[in-house]
Amino acid sequence: MKPLACRLFCFCVIFFYPLFGFGALTSLADATIEQRLSQAEAARRFLAAYPDFLTGYDAAKQELIGWDGTRLPLAGTEKNNCQDNTAALSSASSSAGSQPCCSPGPLETLGVRYRPVAEYWPSRDDPPKPDEDAGRLRPLVLWTYMYGAPAAKNADGCWRTVKVGNSLQLLGGAVEKNLAPVVWKLAGNGVTIRVSRANGVDRHLAAVVAELETISAEAKAQYRRIHGCGKTGVSGFYPRLVRGTICEISPHAFGVAIDVHWRPGLDYWLDSPQRGGYRYQSVMPKEIVAVFERHGFIWGGKWRHFDGMHFEYRPELLDMTMPPVGRPSVAGASGRTHAGKHRPGPRRPGSGRRR
Ligand SMILES: [Zn+2]
Repeated sequence: MKPLACRLFCFCVIFFYPLFGFGALTSLADATIEQRLSQAEAARRFLAAYPDFLTGYDAAKQELIGWDGTRLPLAGTEKNNCQDNTAALSSASSSAGSQPCCSPGPLETLGVRYRPVAEYWPSRDDPPKPDEDAGRLRPLVLWTYMYGAPAAKNADGCWRTVKVGNSLQLLGGAVEKNLAPVVWKLAGNGVTIRVSRANGVDRHLAAVVAELETISAEAKAQYRRIHGCGKTGVSGFYPRLVRGTICEISPHAFGVAIDVHWRPGLDYWLDSPQRGGYRYQSVMPKEIVAVFERHGFIWGGKWRHFDGMHFEYRPELLDMTMPPVGRPSVAGASGRTHAGKHRPGPRRPGSGRRR
């Protein structure tokens, strides 16, 4: 989306959303994935998913209320970087797959329904539907509030970046202060990655790791094959932009995502054959995806623009009610913490929390 179009889109969402709702601004190709939630329902989902940070919703002002009184617009449209900055444009060598640069609010990120494993398993013969990219829009302002700023900003308000290879990496962020190590065991070689402590992402990922010990030998063997017997990497926190974009901040930069293997040329939509349109492909075992979903992570293999190695902590897309776990001491405006309070286990999909 070009800068002018982006600004126009933002303008329209800000001024016309209250009148028509987001559904009037979108035209998804398939009604089974379109999700026209009311503002109250969208707010409820975020409150249930992030109890450490969100404490209420002001329906009159359409704002989520943070634990320290911070107000966060439910429908948002801030830019997430300097898409108007020609210097940034010229320094990014990759032009393929440029993404819209508007930062949606929490409400817009729920505009496409995520279909969990129990409902849908994608394949080459039955790929995700056109526009089925549930979760590829991220609520940047809310994430910055919860996980920390992904980068410092220059005097002109742009994120500080440095070009490394074909991508732009972020500099000077605050996310790293909130990271915790998690040992990924499924490949058999105990790779340590880092994800955020905020919202208990590290705890939920550790629970995934533990539960993956119980999946079938067949699924484990399949994963080890696609993992290349340790030849490919596993990645958590990584302060960078989304590949192929000049302004879209990666969820890895917030410490909420994990790539469980890297297979260049295979499991990412931009790497698939381009002639006549890309073709869906993934070899991820269904059992692994199911485990991640049970702990609040969505899978990028469910996206039309598929990312088969990618999992991301998004319990609101799974309509999950997560327990408070205590904010990291460096999170939020005053640094208060709830650490040490009772931590009940999360309720699971299919056990009463899905609506
Ligand atoms: Zn990823």
